[in-house]
Amino acid sequence: MNPCDQECVTGYDAEPDSDVADSEYNNVVYDVPHEHVAKVTQRFNEDGTIKKIFRARKSDFVHTLLHLNGENFDFVGRGYLIPIYDVRQRQMLLKTARQVEKCRPASDMVMTPSGVEVRIDSLKPGDLVCAMNSDGRYITDKVVGSESNGKKPCLRIKTRLGSSLDMTLNHPLRKLLGWERADRLVVGDKIAALRTVGEFGTSTERLAAMIGLMIGDGHFHEYFLKRTGKRVESIGFTAKNEEVISWFNELCVNNGVPLRKCVDKRTGSTRFYINSTSSIATWLKTNSLFHKYSHEKFLPACLFDLDRYHTRQLLRGLWATDGHCKVVHNSKLDLAYCSTSETLVRQVRILLRKFGIVTVVRKNIPSNRNAKPAWICRVVTRRSQQKFHDEIGPIPGKSFYVPTTKSNSNLDTLPREINLVVREARKRSGHYWKRNGLQSKKLRQGFEYCPTYEKVAAIQEHINDPIIQKVLDSDIIWDEIVSIEEIGLQDTWALQTASETFISDFIVNHNTTYLANNLTVNAVVQPYNKALYVSPSHTQTRQFSNEKLKPAIEGSPLIKKYFQDSSVSTQVFEKGFTNGSYIFLRSAFRSADRTRGISAKDLALDEIQDMLGSEIPVIMECTSHFPDSTVLMAGTPKSLDNPIEAYWQQTTQNEWMVPCFNHYPVHWNFLDERNIAASELYIKDQLRPGPVCNKCMKPLDVTKGRWTSFQKGKFIQGYRIPQLMVPWIITTKDQWMKLLWKRDNYPFGQFYNEVLGISYDNASKPITQDELVQCCSGKFRMTPDPFTQEQALQMRRLNLTAGVDWGEGNDGSEKSPTGKIRNASYTVLTIGYYTNQRNFRVVFIKKYTGQYTDPDFVVRDIARICSAWEVKLVGVDWGHGWGVNNHLVRILGAQKVVQFQYLPKQKERMKWDPLGYKYLILRNLFISELFHALKNQYIEFSTWHELQPFAKDLLSVFVEYVEYQRQMKYDHRPSDPDDFLHSLLYSKLASDVYLGKKTRD
Ligand SMILES: [Zn+2]
Repeated sequence: MNPCDQECVTGYDAEPDSDVADSEYNNVVYDVPHEHVAKVTQRFNEDGTIKKIFRARKSDFVHTLLHLNGENFDFVGRGYLIPIYDVRQRQMLLKTARQVEKCRPASDMVMTPSGVEVRIDSLKPGDLVCAMNSDGRYITDKVVGSESNGKKPCLRIKTRLGSSLDMTLNHPLRKLLGWERADRLVVGDKIAALRTVGEFGTSTERLAAMIGLMIGDGHFHEYFLKRTGKRVESIGFTAKNEEVISWFNELCVNNGVPLRKCVDKRTGSTRFYINSTSSIATWLKTNSLFHKYSHEKFLPACLFDLDRYHTRQLLRGLWATDGHCKVVHNSKLDLAYCSTSETLVRQVRILLRKFGIVTVVRKNIPSNRNAKPAWICRVVTRRSQQKFHDEIGPIPGKSFYVPTTKSNSNLDTLPREINLVVREARKRSGHYWKRNGLQSKKLRQGFEYCPTYEKVAAIQEHINDPIIQKVLDSDIIWDEIVSIEEIGLQDTWALQTASETFISDFIVNHNTTYLANNLTVNAVVQPYNKALYVSPSHTQTRQFSNEKLKPAIEGSPLIKKYFQDSSVSTQVFEKGFTNGSYIFLRSAFRSADRTRGISAKDLALDEIQDMLGSEIPVIMECTSHFPDSTVLMAGTPKSLDNPIEAYWQQTTQNEWMVPCFNHYPVHWNFLDERNIAASELYIKDQLRPGPVCNKCMKPLDVTKGRWTSFQKGKFIQGYRIPQLMVPWIITTKDQWMKLLWKRDNYPFGQFYNEVLGISYDNASKPITQDELVQCCSGKFRMTPDPFTQEQALQMRRLNLTAGVDWGEGNDGSEKSPTGKIRNASYTVLTIGYYTNQRNFRVVFIKKYTGQYTDPDFVVRDIARICSAWEVKLVGVDWGHGWGVNNHLVRILGAQKVVQFQYLPKQKERMKWDPLGYKYLILRNLFISELFHALKNQYIEFSTWHELQPFAKDLLSVFVEYVEYQRQMKYDHRPSDPDDFLHSLLYSKLASDVYLGKKTRD
């Protein structure tokens, strides 16, 4: 629904038509009896047929077969999903708000020098925390101030090495070229993390190695001894490996621990029984490690105070039992520690960091459904593996060596920005590439990728630059940002330290969704079913497969038991079932090629807003062989010119209408921003989380809603699912606060798209035709070309400046050799002057098209006009290359030409770059200021008739909110050029430069 059409929706007081909505299933608490599960089981046991079961509603299957967080998928609070599952329409479109994943609330933790993590709000002035100094080395830092800072919008930044950091928008993070506010970072940026964090203590716990071994494979039992009538404790250790057995034996002897040994004949392993009053038993008891299940294991705080030697002993003990050291092949070594206790694994990670050993922590979902998920802490980067070998090894029973071949891991590389540093350093040292033979050593002049330390070190040998040396010497690992997410208003805590950098680390977990459930159920209930899932990118498809589909299949005990065995494919892009069903997964960004040749009955198109509208029918071809095929599309709207909107127009447009019974007749709410009350009411707890009635502002019960079609008789069923009806968002305060924060902080259009699932286009059009017509004063006419001597003389009296945007002269129909459509572009010349302090008048515009696109001709023609009219300064586009600009400089003289280069990001709005002899300008800022000037008629054109041929260039521009850059971005369709926009901007900027104008800051 376009919000412009809201009128037809407001005041929807009549009862909606019930024939459209599947009201049969609405408003009932969904309670499927347990015999459903039994029935499914029996059918498969008796005759193997599944025909009868297929008669059940699909939502029944979802409930009985699929599991969510270890329990049967429950429709309570999600009643709106039942008709969506059960509808028999062949085509369906889900227009959803952004599906934000449920995450665990994170309380800020800060690392203290010993490695123990503490809550930030428990720190007092004088406490010590981990920090980094300006040389990129670990230091301890003293807390000088600590206080509550109220609720603030926060971001969660996750990195490739598995760190998850929550912080306020302005929290500084270190990049290679300096500190950057968290909200200015983008995915792909590399931020500094220390390799070495924390300090060794002074404790010399002699039992350290034994503690490690006992935590790994120790056992603690209690049994009742009949003879004495007392409870007896049995403590022991089991090992199979000879080296571990003799090490444990030796440790017991050295520590005076009495023990008994016996060999288990069945397994061949050796069991040690330890006296329950011995030193090790007492230690384990006093540190509450008795009777702990393996997933509850942890390292008591006192172990973080061990000195270097004893920390090593502890880690050796741990690694000898639950560690893993394996040379996979002669260039790959796998060093990992694995446990079902997340706490233990994270603690091991912290201890390793004290040695400067870098690890990645990840969760491993076991294939055996009864097994607990395991946590793995893996030593990454060759440098860290070597350190592990030298500092921790050898591990008894697990000998290994570090391969000498080059590691091809790109985890441990320098940020791209190092290229700038290297370039400047080479200039300073007068370094010549060819003379030093660096080219032949496979070192390139500019790295487009992130270079390794070795490559930069090789260049450093020749240029010996102190800044580069500092980068190479620092103890930083450059960790890449993989996601940035808003987490809404959070209680914040201000902590002041001398260096303002303290170190923290966390992680979040996931949940499952509709598409995966649907694909899985279809595969199970229909033998030999072929389904295809397509998303716009490889990454999205992989993510869907691993995080949604795999848990849906493997999380279900019944599916695992009856539809999966070792013979079926469980690959990321192909999932098989024992009944002959298959789910294929592909991606289709800008091309449907990868989906060709697959024939599927069920097609699921995900994130269709990012697909090309023209590709969707091509992908749909794969269902053409099946008369009963189904197509399911899902996505989040972006703007009105989007495939999702085009399809939405062809659907039944079902809306979840929610009744408010405080009115007579009942008032039906169309869920949108009017259903969200003022933030203060929620913050002050005057309202519970969740939407309110748009008429009386009383809380709404969204589970009472029903689906209502706003466009009947359409072939495709369409459902809009705003976040306002998703149970876990509207019932938890945490999630509701995030939604409020988005309402108060997001650009309007983005809030509509992502939270409400409504296309909103007005915000994306920076200017309308009406507004441009308003800019045409009609007070003058543009100067014609060719012009008379008299006209030229007249022009000379004005302080004219010109702007040139160079183009290639194609009309957008050509394709590049790789098949990409080339952007349409022409060279445009704009000439104007300031009529007063504020108003800029455009007196001449020329577009070079058709036969007049030869660069040589264009340059000479521009020079002719500028010379004849004595144009003071010509602002040109730097981006197109210096060839044409140099040509223009040769004709007009260097003082008459000024180059501008757009930058997406820089501190200053406009900066002179003396080396490049150009101005660096902030692209989005200047374009938005130009639109501001146009909207306020600070730019004056002659008549609409004269402007019209060029106006299209201004009207074709649209704004998009780029999530990963967290800013507005101006763009235009490839087929519609925007050259006049830039040429107008350059001519105005050239005037600003000529007049020494300070444009507003
Ligand atoms: Zn009401």
